[in-house]
Amino acid sequence: MNITEFEKQRLDILKNINIHDSKIEQELNEITSLAARICNSPIALISFCDGQKHHIKANVGFNKKELPRDKSLCSLVLEAEERSVIIPDLQGDKEYAWHPFVNEYQKIGFYAGMALQSKEGYAVGTLCVMDYAPKTLSPIQLSALKNLNVEASFILQKELDKNGSLNLKENISSPDPSIPNNNIKAASEKADIFQHMFKFSLIPTFIYDLDLNILEANDCALDEFGYSREELQNIKIAALHPEKQLDNSLLILDNLPLLNTISITTEFKRKDGSVFTAEATPCKFMLGNKPLIHVFIKNISCRVKMEKENASLAQILQRSLNEIYIFDVKTLKFNYVNRGALHNLGYSMEDVRELTPLDLKPEFTPEKFQDIITPLRSGEKELVIFNTVHKRKDGSLYNVEVHLQKMEFKGKEVFTAIIIDTTLKTKSALQLKELNEKIVKANSRLKYFAASTAHDLQEPLRMISSFSNLLQTRYETELDEKAQKYLYYIVDGSTRMKKLIENILEYTEVEAEDFKKTPVNVNLVWEQVLEDLTAVIVAKKALIRLPHAEISIPSDKDLLYRIFLNLIGNGLKYLPEGRIPEINITAEEHTDSWKFIITDNGIGIKKEYHKKIFDLFTRLHSKSEYRGTGMGLAIVHRIVSLHKGEIWVESEPDKGSTFYLMFPK
Ligand code: ADP
Repeated sequence: MNITEFEKQRLDILKNINIHDSKIEQELNEITSLAARICNSPIALISFCDGQKHHIKANVGFNKKELPRDKSLCSLVLEAEERSVIIPDLQGDKEYAWHPFVNEYQKIGFYAGMALQSKEGYAVGTLCVMDYAPKTLSPIQLSALKNLNVEASFILQKELDKNGSLNLKENISSPDPSIPNNNIKAASEKADIFQHMFKFSLIPTFIYDLDLNILEANDCALDEFGYSREELQNIKIAALHPEKQLDNSLLILDNLPLLNTISITTEFKRKDGSVFTAEATPCKFMLGNKPLIHVFIKNISCRVKMEKENASLAQILQRSLNEIYIFDVKTLKFNYVNRGALHNLGYSMEDVRELTPLDLKPEFTPEKFQDIITPLRSGEKELVIFNTVHKRKDGSLYNVEVHLQKMEFKGKEVFTAIIIDTTLKTKSALQLKELNEKIVKANSRLKYFAASTAHDLQEPLRMISSFSNLLQTRYETELDEKAQKYLYYIVDGSTRMKKLIENILEYTEVEAEDFKKTPVNVNLVWEQVLEDLTAVIVAKKALIRLPHAEISIPSDKDLLYRIFLNLIGNGLKYLPEGRIPEINITAEEHTDSWKFIITDNGIGIKKEYHKKIFDLFTRLHSKSEYRGTGMGLAIVHRIVSLHKGEIWVESEPDKGSTFYLMFPK
């Protein structure tokens, strides 16, 4: 190699550095390990180059002590005009295909080296980082590497000063003017911290150049925008804005002053096309002599949405026809009164600000009002509801229901009152009460009328029935056949009328019943019913099966008697000519109820009448077929309803009927 004058001087300097000094070695080792860490690289070296060799003085991840000058990558740095070399993809770069680091030594994919140099440009050595895979360094990593390079130069300078040679110190220019030269190591650590802060910041952050090329994005930005780091390297920052925002955003960037932050609310577009509103804070800064921009992007979609929602909520409150008041906890003066309240009261907002709830509530003395709000003030109660009257500006009064709460409003404790004008409610409640009373009165008059009429009718009916019976027994032989037939109709009619009147009386009694439930032994009730029906049972040779177990239900024994008398009676009655009645009664006990099942082998009931038969006066047969009044099942239904129970039937013509009764326990 042809040693020029320049090279000669460089070598002279080298001679003045005691590169075997252990203290220097230790400091240089620290720098290489910092460089490896910051640049996330497995290899970092500091080497000094004499005429023939590169002496490796500090290293991480590299096991050689020296390399022939022509086989070292660091030689490239010494020869490069800019005194720094970055090869992002060594293996893929044809220019370096010859180099021993591509195939002979450890196969290196990435190299970044910088010269440790003097003011005169004498490069005495290099600081470099290497990686096996191709990669690039972020602007922050690059900046930190430059700072470390300055630190290494500074260490060497100290050594030269000691030996009375070149004064490098004053001429070392720091790449980052904000970092003092004598504290470069601290600055490197600072860069380390900033890199971490940048990486893990929860605010999406981008760094890009003035051509809008994205140079760096933190993890959070990748998450927010949905791009991978590689994808971002191929797009411009403009691609992150929706079309309509583009001109505006670029205009702002064009006029961005150096090191001045401004915040703008704008829209951004994710990879999937979705758009969000964000507060962008761009800042122009210099890295070396290259202007760059970093921008923080704070997604404020939720805040904007919430503000919109709050605004519409406030509008709803303002427009509400219910009256809403907010008043001070201490002075009780109104802070806010909605439109509905002002409208109803007839006051303006200015008027009402001078008032307190006491001015609107004539029924309240200050002491009485304090009694209401004290439990809210102390937190003993969260809500107080009371009814009172409000006085309008014109002195007229209206009924109100007040819902009072203590809350925080604009950082202050306040009372909020939601007030419902109950004038209409009170009026309609009064009307309803009056109407109800009228109905109850009319109903009881009707019941009284029905009962007294039925009762009064019994007397003349008894006369008709007794005298026609007398006529029948005494004068039967004296009457001709026609007269006897007429007499039979009179007796029969009066008997049926008697039954009808009895049933009407029974129904009105049940209707009016306000019975008290006591435990009733149902077996005894059945015994009584069967005893009273003995004549029919014997005449028809009826077969009646009852449960053996003793059953007791909460009821009234007379009412229960009427139910079973009607149901068993019907089972005995509604039967085809000549069929022997068979009636089966079973009982089932459930958790909350008793169920009785009464089955007969009678004529059955068509499906369309299964509900209708429980209505008053419903008869499915003429009196010539089966006698009756059509009131029995209506009475049963009424009694079951009084028990809050249920009754229903399952039946088919000529297949018998099954009546189900359910009584709550
Ligand atoms: P009635 O006094 O006519 O028996 P009910 O109210 O007891 O009045 O019965 C109403 C109608 O329901 C009866 O007219 C009859 O047609 C029908 N019915 C009631 N029970 C039975 C039954 N067990 N089998 C068939 N039909 C019945």
